[in-house]
Amino acid sequence: MKAMTLAAPGQPLEQAELPDPQPGPGQLQVRVSACGVCRTDLHVVDGDLTEAKLPIVPGHEIVGRVSALGDGVDGFELGQRVGIPWLGHTCGTCPYCKQGAENLCDAPGFTGYQIDGGYAELTVADADYCFALGEDGDDAALAPLLCAGLIGYRSLVMAGEDARRLGIYGFGAAAHIVTQVAAWQGREIYAFTSPGDRAAQDFARSMGAAWAGGSDESSPAELDAAIIFAPVGALVPAALRALRKGGVLVCGGIHMSDIPAFPYRDLWGERVIRSVANLTRQDAIDFLALAPRVPVRTEVVAYPLARANEALADLRSGRLTGAAVLIP
Ligand SMILES: [Zn+2]
Ligand SMILES: [Zn+2]
Repeated sequence: MKAMTLAAPGQPLEQAELPDPQPGPGQLQVRVSACGVCRTDLHVVDGDLTEAKLPIVPGHEIVGRVSALGDGVDGFELGQRVGIPWLGHTCGTCPYCKQGAENLCDAPGFTGYQIDGGYAELTVADADYCFALGEDGDDAALAPLLCAGLIGYRSLVMAGEDARRLGIYGFGAAAHIVTQVAAWQGREIYAFTSPGDRAAQDFARSMGAAWAGGSDESSPAELDAAIIFAPVGALVPAALRALRKGGVLVCGGIHMSDIPAFPYRDLWGERVIRSVANLTRQDAIDFLALAPRVPVRTEVVAYPLARANEALADLRSGRLTGAAVLIP
């Protein structure tokens, strides 16, 4: 099969011809039809995340069809359309797994990080961590739901049900999905983009944001909660200052530049800062059921698999509107 592989951090992905991966017991072999490009892939490629299996096939927003079944797989059939997310494996025995917090598992395996992912024609995944996607919707349009959507949704849940005025910092793939869900829930969205990025601000308004402006502007309203998707630590004190007393600030990214020091009075008043790590399978079940009800419509830019490096570069530079998706 054709795949794009990362040999070492800091290097471009290389086109490779690899043996077709074979499903072990409990696994599915999936013929990939679309794989989203997530900011986490950039952090893997750039070496910000240091626990990658190398070489690795990146990609954890996978949509494809079951092409072979390993022994003992139940509940999936050949040809069925499935999604494969970031959470690829958990131990099932650590205290976090036992408490329903498998996203914090002590011995996890993540797709496209420790487990070869979807920048390929074929991939293999534990069936227990795959999700049936049904037949509604286009493969490429569904791909960003598998991480941008899931992590965005988990971040939105962490922001709290009663957070009516919600700030979103960084308007990429996750934000454009979360904004649609949050607006549908009746919340008011305040979207903060890179200063002067008019295209992103127009995009945010078109997705349902009540207000969009630069992260250098002060919020026109006091926020009940805010989510930061941009990997920029300096946004943490900025967003805190926009929060009301008791407000929650959720950091939705897996990696962020250092957070600058800020005065304690900005945190005072029982404001909360928290991160969101990974996802649970229940998040996926909940969000994949919710998305068609909104309905969430993703904005995707498709690239052939062989141009994965270009897609990553466009994501890095902020040239993208919406989500990049690779098509093998
Ligand atoms: Zn565990
Ligand atoms: Zn991701």
